Order: sequence, then C-alpha cells, then structure tokens
Amino acid sequence: MRERTRPGDNGLVPRAIKPPAIKPAAPKPAKPRKTRTMPAAEVRTFLDALARANPAPKSELDFVNPFTLLVAVVLSAQATDASVNRATPTLFAEAPTPAAMAALGAEGIGRHVRSIGLWQGKARNVAELSRLLVEQYGGEVPRDREALEALPGVGRKTANVVLNVAFGESTMAVDTHIFRLGNRTGLAPGKTPRAVEDALVRRVPADMLRNAHHWLILHGRYVCKARLPECWRCVAAPWCRYPAKTPPPAEKPPKRGAQLT
Ligand code: SF4
Repeated sequence: MRERTRPGDNGLVPRAIKPPAIKPAAPKPAKPRKTRTMPAAEVRTFLDALARANPAPKSELDFVNPFTLLVAVVLSAQATDASVNRATPTLFAEAPTPAAMAALGAEGIGRHVRSIGLWQGKARNVAELSRLLVEQYGGEVPRDREALEALPGVGRKTANVVLNVAFGESTMAVDTHIFRLGNRTGLAPGKTPRAVEDALVRRVPADMLRNAHHWLILHGRYVCKARLPECWRCVAAPWCRYPAKTPPPAEKPPKRGAQLT
C-alpha cells in the first residue's frame, strides 16, 4: 500500500522554509562633516571681516606697564580676565614694581588675589618671578622669549602675550579660544596648541599677525563660543569652513493676550 505523504514529510516535496524575519536596518547617523582647511587666499578676507568689526583690538586685562601685564597674565591662567581685573587694582597699588612685589611675598600677594582660581600657586609664582626680575634683570621684564619662559608660572602662551602686547611683536598666543577657532573655521587646523600656533604664524599675513591674536580671542570669547557658535551674527561666516553653522534662534511666539501691532 502506498504511504500517504504530506509535502515535506518524505523529502520528496520539501516543506516551505520560512525565511527568518529580517529587521529593516536602522538608518545610520549622518557622519559629521569635517571642517576643510580655509584656502590661503581667503585668510586675509576672513581676518579683514573681524578687523572691520574691531579695528583697534586690545587686551581685556588691566595693566599699566610690562610688569603689571606679566603679573596679570600669570594670574589669568584658567581664570577670566574679569576676575583678574577685580583683584589687581589693590595689588598693583600696594606693589607697583617687581621689588615691591617681591617684598610683599606670596602671603601678602595672596591677600589680594584669593578670589582668583588657583591663587595660592599663582601668588607664589608672582612673588618668585618678581624676585628673579630684580636679581637678574634689574627690575625690568626681559624682551626675550627664553628668559620669559624661565620665570615661574610663565609658559609659551604667557610669553607670547607679553611679547605681543607689551613689546609689539607679531607673536600668536594660542589659548583655548584660538585653538578652537583655528580648527573650527579651517583657518589653522592642528592637534596641539603649538601646531595651531605654527599654522597661524605661517598662514596669517605678516601685517595682520599682531592684531590677529586679539581678533581671534575676542571673536572666540563673544561670538564663536565653545558650546554654541553664534554663526547667524558672525561677520566672518562667508569665509568660515565650519560645516555645521548655527542657524538663527527661532523667534518666540508672542505671549497669549499680547497685543499685535
Ligand atoms: S561662522 Fe560660526 S563657526 Fe564660523 S567663525 Fe563664525 S561663529 Fe565661528
């Protein structure tokens, strides 16, 4: 007697195999586009736009001579210029020269600057660098990078600020704002502050280099901010290569009951 078969029971008629359910692939997030380097021919135009908005840029630290500038810059490490400016008037009134500052000592300096972050170490550095200025440089601030960088609390960035602001040299001090701007805008991409500094010195036209330090710091502080650059009101936007420019903020709807004119 012939066995009754059902499809798939005897291998003659294979059962239909249900294919495993395939989940539709989740859409991949768009890769953030990388900032491209700004073409050399546009670097001047970009800086010109910043220059028109601020033709005579200045340091926002208060100082009256190279010594008070040096002290203010040392105190400003990882602190705001405003916090330094609140502390220095009484400090400079009591100790306007390196000799007076050295005599005041770390403890006396500390009485004036304790509202500034990391004040204890900074007070010690200011006392010691003042003593060295008296002993080694006749109470003057040396116009020399190596000599400046040998002073306590003075690194390459501080030396660059002093050489630029006090002595008019075309140096480029790369702080957090300039490091961000150099990379974000494509002006001077680099992985380290020194790489950004070297790229800026190479790419910025020589006649703009001294002021470029201020234009870039101030632009980073007030417009091209770290968390959210205010691209919608940026005068240099047409030449900036940042691919994710911030659109203008949405206008708030009028409050209910407010009269429309
Ligand atoms: S357009 Fe935006 S990212 Fe570019 S420099 Fe201006 S604020 Fe910065």
